[in-house]
Amino acid sequence: MTRSAPARRGFRIVLAALCVLTAVAGCGPRGGNGEGVSQAPAALPWTRSERERRLARIEDEAARAAWTAAAEEALAQAPTAPGDAYAERGRLQPGEAVALRIEVPPGQVGRIRLQVHGQPAAPPLAELYRLDGATWRRLGDSVPAGAARRVEEGVHAALVQADPGAGAGYTLQLSRGGRAMFPVEGAARYDIGGVYGDPRPGGRIHEGIDVFAERGTPVLAAEQGVAMQRQSDLGGRTVWLRAGSGLSYYYAHLDEVAIEPAARVEQGEVLGGVGSSGNAQGTPPHLHFGIYRRGRGSIDPLPSLAAPPQEAFEPIEPPAWPEARVDASALNLRAAPGDDGAVRERLERGARLRVLAATDRAPWLRVRAGGVQGFVHGGYLAEATAADGPPEEGGARAPAP
Ligand SMILES: [Zn+2]
Repeated sequence: MTRSAPARRGFRIVLAALCVLTAVAGCGPRGGNGEGVSQAPAALPWTRSERERRLARIEDEAARAAWTAAAEEALAQAPTAPGDAYAERGRLQPGEAVALRIEVPPGQVGRIRLQVHGQPAAPPLAELYRLDGATWRRLGDSVPAGAARRVEEGVHAALVQADPGAGAGYTLQLSRGGRAMFPVEGAARYDIGGVYGDPRPGGRIHEGIDVFAERGTPVLAAEQGVAMQRQSDLGGRTVWLRAGSGLSYYYAHLDEVAIEPAARVEQGEVLGGVGSSGNAQGTPPHLHFGIYRRGRGSIDPLPSLAAPPQEAFEPIEPPAWPEARVDASALNLRAAPGDDGAVRERLERGARLRVLAATDRAPWLRVRAGGVQGFVHGGYLAEATAADGPPEEGGARAPAP
């Protein structure tokens, strides 16, 4: 991924809206301090986010702009967390920001957790954003350190930004996984005999999976929700389960139904037994299991049935020297930590870069070089000295005049 101009522009729009809110609340940095009586109207605390509160504490206008610009750049350049679980451990200079994207496919959930290391004078600000078209929209206010936050389907970003007055160490963990429980007791993926998308007569596709099991094997509520019995020629005895997540689960060809015609059920509750009712008569007993996004059609159930979000591996400590230079004839700056990450830039011997974080994919490091963020193999870096020229700029630097 390269720098995304639309996303960057969109983020500006959101920040501009927040500034308007700040102005309305009359709580700008010049809002009468130390004189006993405030000239400004009383602040409305619920109209201000943690970002606005921190911005209001920065005296200098250029420093405020730089702090905002650092967040914009971090979001615009945020790499996508690789795989289903990823963690990085980094050090931020005062005002510096890093962000990571996580893409949560339909039927899955994401989990984001931030830990802060050391005891910084002011802990870094952590925020979650959701990509809405080309605009990053902030979800809620700030994320407390240590707590895991759950995110739903879509593209999200976790942003960590050091307070302008204090650097900080952080560990950021992002993971994603299935949200649904496997729908047949004692069965597993190898019992799936028909997959989503298989062709069916009349140009239809198979809008679900078939899980083969002995007649009467309990079928289980994939999520908490409201379950309803239905009867149809195709499905035979069926149950529809409407979950609060916006997904509806369809259970067909049941031998018997074990719930009231409409019942609130917990995840894992028995809905009925595997059978061969409807158009499955004469075939081996199996559960036809479908997942529908309400109003938007069916999805492949397999991602939903993947393991729930897992802990990432513990990242290694980042090198003690944040300023580094390339110690090889050339080094690829990649969009992801690994030899298969797309190449964003090619760095020449001696090129200066700043190490932002160590990843859980040792020896890959997250770096910034020439204003571009990415990942490099840490085995080809050496500590930079004063003789290596000016350092890679980082943190909340003032915009160029
Ligand atoms: Zn089927």
